[in-house]
Amino acid sequence: MARASNTRKTASKAAEKPVKGPEEDKTPVINLPRSVSVRQLAEMLDIDAINIIKQLMRNGIMANINQVIDYETAGSIATSFGYKPNLAPIKDQLMASAAEESKRLKRKYGKEAENLVARPPVVTVMGHVDHGKTKLLDAIRKTNVVDSEAGGITQHIGAYQVTIEGQKITFLDTPGHEAFTAMRAHGANITDVTILVVAADDGVMPQTKEAINHARAAEVPIVVAINKIDKDNADPNLVKQQLTEAGLVVEEWGGDTVSVEVSAKEKKGIKELLESVLLVAEMEELKANPNQPAAGVVIEAEKDKTMGPLATVLIQSGTLKEEDTVVVGMTWGRVRAMFNETRKRIKKAEPSMPVEILGLGEVPKVGDTLTAVSDERHAQAILARKRAELEEEALKRKAVNLDNLYDQISTGKVKELNVILKTDVQGSIEPIVSSLERMETDEVKVRIIHSATGNVTESDVMLAAASNGLIIGFNVNANEGARRLATSTGVDIRFYDIIYNLTDDVDKALKGLLEPKLVEVIEGRADVRAVFSAGKGSKAAGVLVNEGRVTRNIPVRVMRGKEVLVESTVSSLKRFKDDAKEVAAGYECGVGVKDFNDFKVGDVLEFYKMEKSGK
Ligand code: GDP
Repeated sequence: MARASNTRKTASKAAEKPVKGPEEDKTPVINLPRSVSVRQLAEMLDIDAINIIKQLMRNGIMANINQVIDYETAGSIATSFGYKPNLAPIKDQLMASAAEESKRLKRKYGKEAENLVARPPVVTVMGHVDHGKTKLLDAIRKTNVVDSEAGGITQHIGAYQVTIEGQKITFLDTPGHEAFTAMRAHGANITDVTILVVAADDGVMPQTKEAINHARAAEVPIVVAINKIDKDNADPNLVKQQLTEAGLVVEEWGGDTVSVEVSAKEKKGIKELLESVLLVAEMEELKANPNQPAAGVVIEAEKDKTMGPLATVLIQSGTLKEEDTVVVGMTWGRVRAMFNETRKRIKKAEPSMPVEILGLGEVPKVGDTLTAVSDERHAQAILARKRAELEEEALKRKAVNLDNLYDQISTGKVKELNVILKTDVQGSIEPIVSSLERMETDEVKVRIIHSATGNVTESDVMLAAASNGLIIGFNVNANEGARRLATSTGVDIRFYDIIYNLTDDVDKALKGLLEPKLVEVIEGRADVRAVFSAGKGSKAAGVLVNEGRVTRNIPVRVMRGKEVLVESTVSSLKRFKDDAKEVAAGYECGVGVKDFNDFKVGDVLEFYKMEKSGK
């Protein structure tokens, strides 16, 4: 029906014909999966993600663009944008993800296909707290260790490989979906298969559901490990039923989800679990070309006191060798040595292998990519380009702040001022919100997109960054993480303890009258070489300008060692006997300082200017 597909541009892809009833309902139907990320939902509805985020907030949900929301939440958002939500049948969801998967593989491999060979799957373990993730990773590791080594081996890095029936599997040892999602936020989707651990005596719990949503959003297949079956009160059937309710139907019940009953404690079912992982991985057709320069992702990094920067890298394609020159994130180096998980020195690392490398200039960040290059010159060129790109991005991203607000309004860049308000008590919110909202002008609306009590958190900063807004804190602080995030995202946080100051600042900013924050910029420095009389009892300093320049009337501070004797301004400036406007570095001149006569040879004059920041 034309009506359904024409109401919104791309809704035609997802919307189906409305159901015909006696009175035809013309609302377009949207098929939604059981869980969907904000970004995906925005694409499906063809609505800017910011508007989705705002709508979620109106419903009391704080979400960023990568956050996964459940069907009920997505449905209510779809309804508010004029759609009728419908839960897509599981079969369709699976088909959609299979089709998506095959597209992804084509995109991933393209014409490279013939140079590719199979690579081991990279596996992460997720699940609810205390369901046995750590114990399971431990059991898997021990199952694999040859008897003579057992017990004597300490694992040094956050990943390891096991071999089962001659095939390798790589395990990332950082259980929990926070790590998984953190890597994804960096754009590094390094997991091929995820093991979802569910304790048979506890069943599907909130974090189990979250883990399912995260794996789905990343399109990573799930193998379920029903753990703790050794316990008397273990009830694997109940777990399977709860999984079905969460949208994962196990194979024996006619679904597609592979599940294995295990006991991490008694090391039962581990081999079957690993075989299932291999089976699922086989369907993924995981391939990489080992005969090319290496590429990989940093999974951990630290500075060792004696060895310097150390990074654990998961090789994704190519082969990394000792002596290779690599660019990693914003640093580079030559691989001086490589170690495997038991800190055994190795000469080369192939796809899906985790290795610890030594020789980088600085400690990289988790999620940074590694690329092997031909030589140092090439590495420097890549880094220079990356730096330029970062700067450009930072400029583009320049968030709105009270200092530049008026400029942004005048140039039409800002039509609404989005404000996140945090206060110490509930009672302060209402008066501040209403006085801020009263300030809107013809050019710009003031929108309070979120207000709550409590300190400013990272989630507030994320919301501000996502909606080009600023944060106002009234009688509150910001936690350390929030401050750091605000600096890196350019989000402006303003703190006040008097309502009048708050409203006055916003009012002035809207009208372009706010005095910008000022920062000091050093203009020049000079050494005092002689002191002479300048008449009427005042003294002048004979100086050599050794840095920058000095101009008339510029602010100056006189320093003796580390001590600041005075902060004042230049009252006279002479070259020989004549007045000068400016004297540059390398020249001598006579300088008088307002209300100061106590110069001594060896003093240093520091000339500075106060400039606007945040522009
Ligand atoms: P995590 O929070 O998911 O990493 O859970 P842990 O691996 O730390 O395990 C939580 C608790 O459950 C610990 O006391 C483990 O000893 C116990 N546990 C883990 N696996 C099993 C199992 O298979 N059987 C039994 N009986 N206990 C287990």
